Amino acid sequence: MKAFDSTQLYFNRAADQIDLTENMRRLLLIPKREVQVQVAIERDNGEIATFVGYRVQHDDARGPMKGGLRYHPDVDMDEVRSLAALMTWKTAVVDLPYGGAKGGLAIDPAQFSTRELELITRRFVDGIHDVIGPDMDIPAPDMGTNAEVMAWFMNQYAKYHGYSPACVTGKPVEMHGLPGREEATGRGVGILTYKMLTRMGRKPAQTRVAIQGFGNVGSHTAKFLHEAGFRLVAVSDYSGGYYRPEGLDVPAVLRYALDHKGTLAGYTGAQQISNSELLGLDVDVLIPAALGGVITHANAESVRAKIIIEAANAPVYPDADDILAARGVMILPDILANAGGVTASYFEWVQNRQHYRWDINRVRQELEHVMTRAFERVWELSVERKVSLRTAAYIVGIGRVGQATVLGGIS
Ligand code: GLU
Repeated sequence: MKAFDSTQLYFNRAADQIDLTENMRRLLLIPKREVQVQVAIERDNGEIATFVGYRVQHDDARGPMKGGLRYHPDVDMDEVRSLAALMTWKTAVVDLPYGGAKGGLAIDPAQFSTRELELITRRFVDGIHDVIGPDMDIPAPDMGTNAEVMAWFMNQYAKYHGYSPACVTGKPVEMHGLPGREEATGRGVGILTYKMLTRMGRKPAQTRVAIQGFGNVGSHTAKFLHEAGFRLVAVSDYSGGYYRPEGLDVPAVLRYALDHKGTLAGYTGAQQISNSELLGLDVDVLIPAALGGVITHANAESVRAKIIIEAANAPVYPDADDILAARGVMILPDILANAGGVTASYFEWVQNRQHYRWDINRVRQELEHVMTRAFERVWELSVERKVSLRTAAYIVGIGRVGQATVLGGIS
């Protein structure tokens, strides 16, 4: 199944619940604008390299469009379109005054030098700067990009439009960034995992957790859950999985990754397993925190966790969602679970526009407030309507975007 078809299926399930008309569905589903540009650079060895850059601006009924920039070999227009739509529902679920967008390049950043990545980013900005801006569309980090890339983005954008730090979020703290933005997605995942388990009457110390992916999101989730007293038994990255049934020494794992350029390769404090073994471990909570489409009909039966927290975007495909639902597995959906990142991005954007700096305590406090409020609303609605948390989250998101569209007037 293609990525956009999958997002559309989840959308339609919720749209059926609220009897949304066909015309309104079309209006909300079709992206407002899709941009594709050529990005050409001279590599360090003198060769010319060309890439395709994408930016999909899905919907702006609730405000400027917002969403990350992904550098990953799997990036294509279909994936970016699907991720852009997810951003529209995500910003609406947590009630930020934004629409949704997403962009990216089909490259593996590990294959390029820092100088080459800077050039690629600057040429990409050259191609899209006229459709980007603090009141139009505000990019941010995603898989394969980071604060450094956002700094290049801001600097190149300024060459066309002058000083405008609010044109992009997730910048370095020393350069108009927000303390707490980097940890925010993982922290939000942690906050909601804790809330959800408490709701279900479970105690952290009796809860075994496995996290797939140990990048920015996975590692900050691990740190938060460890500090909250959960028993983290397995983590993984591209080098494989690391499993210790009695519980991992989380500070040691975090330190190992820091000392080894972010990778866990060579970590000996746990039993080595494969990524697919990790997905099938006998744990209470499974947190996919890497790529999309990791749980499909092919492996859904082997998932033993009773709770899945979608820290990644679109990790569970609809065919797997059905199998898991039939087995009573509860899924906290991506558009709510990982919304902490874009929420902190919103704080950064507000701070940039006010030329005022928030400290980390305020950021953490407001993040918890926004995430909790959204969680309560979605949970309530799912109980009220007897639907999954995903369908409830989509109903909240679609309801808000639909309302803004109608209030703004279509003709
Ligand atoms: N890339 C992140 C996401 O998928 C953050 C987007 C943002 O901060 O705008 O939610």
